[in-house]
Amino acid sequence: MAYERTQTCVKCGNRWEIYKLRLIMRDKDSLECDCGETLIKWNGAVMYTSKLVDKSQDSH
Ligand SMILES: [Zn+2]
Repeated sequence: MAYERTQTCVKCGNRWEIYKLRLIMRDKDSLECDCGETLIKWNGAVMYTSKLVDKSQDSH
């Protein structure tokens, strides 16, 4: 598993670390934030996993 990038959700501000994993077979999927916003989509011999690193300071 290799670190890909840190991505901030445009909707709620949560920060996620995105990790990339190479696959032998083709995979088509996506990852969503807790709020439902799509973080990343892919279609190929890879898949991604995400780890929450900084939760949004949103007060509500
Ligand atoms: Zn979000």
